[in-house]
Amino acid sequence: MTRVAIVTGGTRGIGEAISLKLQGMGITVVANYAGNDEKARAFTERTGIAAYKWDVGDHQACLDGCVRVADEVGPIDIVVNNAGITRDGTLARMSYDDWHDVMRINLGGCFNMAKATFPGMVERGWGRIVNIGSINGQAGQYGQVNYAAAKSGIHGFTKALAQEGAKKGVTVNAIAPGYIDTDMVAAVPAPVLEKIVAKIPVGRLGQADEIARGVAFLCSEDAGFVTGSTMSINGGQHMY
Ligand code: NDP
Repeated sequence: MTRVAIVTGGTRGIGEAISLKLQGMGITVVANYAGNDEKARAFTERTGIAAYKWDVGDHQACLDGCVRVADEVGPIDIVVNNAGITRDGTLARMSYDDWHDVMRINLGGCFNMAKATFPGMVERGWGRIVNIGSINGQAGQYGQVNYAAAKSGIHGFTKALAQEGAKKGVTVNAIAPGYIDTDMVAAVPAPVLEKIVAKIPVGRLGQADEIARGVAFLCSEDAGFVTGSTMSINGGQHMY
């Protein structure tokens, strides 16, 4: 049976690598994205993976979007909640909108997508949800109270929902990436990035595909006994 997966923010960066990895496993993948139509179009042309545009922070848009995907592609078996944004600044400089947007999209997106898909997975007796957290949700990070709180929330969300899915064949896990070479990290000023890399024991940034490999395992049949866990993929930067 061919499984259907949706990867939020799946058209570029870590999400693109995840989409491709799942496609390589024979899964029918669709990628969601927010607004970068040009990148999404190029992605679909390159990979043959359909791209669906909606804001994961918008509850109704997630419900409607997932109904559309189910109608057009098939019931959704796998959700990778990867879409995320940063709005960094010290607390003094951070606006309420910076706080709220990050909570709404990074954490709210996981809730919205789960509401849209988890009941169907439970009904069919099989499902995989993988939430992309962050090392900064585990350890905190200067200038990121919004992002660290949202990502930390994802780890709690994962453990709670895993308990609801455990007896129903639905696993819920998180991956906490360290610093990965994507547009998001390219936005970090070079001197700051140099200091960050100096603290990574393996001595380099991670590659998007290294996160995708972890997601692939958690989405596989082999991972049926893994639930409520957080896989840290961070070059040894934060161990616990
Ligand atoms: P990018 O900024 O490169 O890509 C983000 C993706 O998310 C894009 O596809 C974007 O769509 C999509 N997106 C953003 N907002 C929304 C929204 N409201 N609704 C739907 N899609 C949205 O990010 P990365 O690949 O670097 O990061 C992916 C995930 O990994 C994020 O959750 C991030 O927090 C997490 N992470 C990243 C780390 C890193 O070092 N890069 C480290 C730890 C965690 P569009 O193209 O339309 O803008």
